[in-house]
Amino acid sequence: MKVAILGGGMAGCALAHILRQSGAEPVLYEAGPALASGASGNECGLYNPRFSALRSAESDFYAAAYAQALCQFQTLEGIDWTPCGSLHLMTSDKIRDRLRRTQENWGWEAAHMRLVSRIEASEIAGIELRHDALYLPEGGYVSPKKLCAAYARNIEVHLNAEITDLAEIDAPVTVLACGPAVAKFAPTLPLIPVRGQITQVAATARSAALNCNLCHSGYMTPAHNGEHTLGATFQPDTEDSDLRAEDDQENIDRLAEIIPGLESGLTVTGQRASVRATSRNRFPIIGALPGHDHVYMSAAHGSYGILSSLMSAHLLTDMILNRPRCLPTDVIKALSPTRFKKRG
Ligand SMILES: Cc1cc2nc3c(=O)[nH]c(=O)nc-3n(C[C@H](O)[C@H](O)[C@H](O)COP(=O)(O)OP(=O)(O)OC[C@H]3O[C@@H](n4cnc5c(N)ncnc54)[C@H](O)[C@@H]3O)c2cc1C
Repeated sequence: MKVAILGGGMAGCALAHILRQSGAEPVLYEAGPALASGASGNECGLYNPRFSALRSAESDFYAAAYAQALCQFQTLEGIDWTPCGSLHLMTSDKIRDRLRRTQENWGWEAAHMRLVSRIEASEIAGIELRHDALYLPEGGYVSPKKLCAAYARNIEVHLNAEITDLAEIDAPVTVLACGPAVAKFAPTLPLIPVRGQITQVAATARSAALNCNLCHSGYMTPAHNGEHTLGATFQPDTEDSDLRAEDDQENIDRLAEIIPGLESGLTVTGQRASVRATSRNRFPIIGALPGHDHVYMSAAHGSYGILSSLMSAHLLTDMILNRPRCLPTDVIKALSPTRFKKRG
């Protein structure tokens, strides 16, 4: 079955990959001159689940997505996958409470998620830290841009191919995976554009000792080719991708607040800004587009698109090929575009 996919970011490319593996014929239409022209074009991103204190449809989605991604990354070459571990620092009482309850309620084995003291966290990180942490030993980073390229290997791709009218499409099934531009086709859905910028900095002798990701209100990766990635700013309802020196400073200042002195001597070597889309409750919107036959969407991946795009690709493939679903009904309902319908 031919499936037209609008958008060559992680949502579109992951879907094309999984559809292709399942015997369908995906065709990608990308408005930009290259794949990953939008939010997925970053050279480095963390594959973190979105933590919630309670076990819920959301936590089940991200837990399944994390497991799925760890298997998938092993099969893809050239994606800069680095499972260096991720420390989620307890930087306030509120965050401590949420991360403790996450560890308690998600029920993962200690080999995959555990609480660590400040001292143990410092040993893991290779630098002195001030906070206890939730530790995911298999966490890490990957290149979203290279992930798109790897997913799209052997897929038919049309570049500079912005679709403005779904009637242009010659395929029995269409999937909207075009980031914030999904709103053009589904104007009643609450898609919120959120501008963000990441910052690359050259490692110093001190920062080069960092062994794993540090996650706080921002994040810092270990040095890769002599550079750390710091992220990311979060500006809702802002849609420009201009590079801003003040955003670089914000990323550095947030690091300095959590680990004073670590920022000393870090010099900015690069940055990238783009716009991700999120939803009102920050959960992706995945499923059939209400009021349209055979049109689906994969949108609102927010700040967790590395994991959510892949899990959504599996779910949409099941829906399109009418197979048993890989996720339980309550999770599918929580993701559905129909969840925003007004009651009565
Ligand atoms: C600064 C920043 C840092 C981030 N860091 C992380 C991170 O560390 N970890 C993580 O998991 N996530 C992170 N994210 C979020 C992640 O990047 C997004 O969730 C993800 O890229 C969304 O993928 P997407 O395919 O839905 O959208 P996009 O990557 O934006 O792809 C949509 C594509 O559709 C194309 N398009 C638009 N309109 C049309 C049309 N009409 N026809 C055809 N094509 C069209 C666009 O050109 C674009 O290439 C970050 C985002 C930002 C902005």
